[in-house]
Amino acid sequence: MKSVEIAYEVRPRQSDSEQAWREMALYPAKEAGSHLLVMRNINWPSQCPCCLSEETSSYHTLKCEVNWKVDDNTRYFFPLEWRVPYCSTCLDHVKMHSSITIGVSIAWVVLLALGGAFSSEYLKTASVYLQIAAIFGIGIGSGALCLWLNKVLKPILVVPRKTPTCVADGNYAVSAPSVPPGGKVQIYFESDAYADAFFALNGV
Ligand SMILES: [Zn+2]
Ligand SMILES: [Zn+2]
Repeated sequence: MKSVEIAYEVRPRQSDSEQAWREMALYPAKEAGSHLLVMRNINWPSQCPCCLSEETSSYHTLKCEVNWKVDDNTRYFFPLEWRVPYCSTCLDHVKMHSSITIGVSIAWVVLLALGGAFSSEYLKTASVYLQIAAIFGIGIGSGALCLWLNKVLKPILVVPRKTPTCVADGNYAVSAPSVPPGGKVQIYFESDAYADAFFALNGV
């Protein structure tokens, strides 16, 4: 996995050079309180970051949150986002992966509620120890069932949606983690070939 650091600066809006900073700023300029975050414009390769296909009729909104600390009492939060060209096939396998995770999580909550409802009548007269054991049993049993479901469904529903050149399955092939105060904006690429295309396009 390759990555690149994108330099940024946060300046007070009342600075003399505000107009110049605005022109350089990420579009649209990101403002928070009395400050403005500025960053070079980023060009994205016209190919999918996952399978490298040049069919990029869709896009993924890559989000990155920059936290900025002016002083101990003042913090600003700049939400950045970029439209990254992506192919529809790859968006589909990423979305299917997260749909399975959400579906299985909902199934776990439903199983817990059903298990609790069915057992409560029988456990009314049971000892405290038996009640605790039953609660743990229902929790662990339903959790194990859902983990198994997750493991079984992903190869059936996600893998056939991928292309032979895909580098990711459940995650997007470009990512930009949140930036803590004083931290750096870092973009990560799952595909080295895509990263090289990005570096060439942006002169880094
Ligand atoms: Zn793709
Ligand atoms: Zn893919």
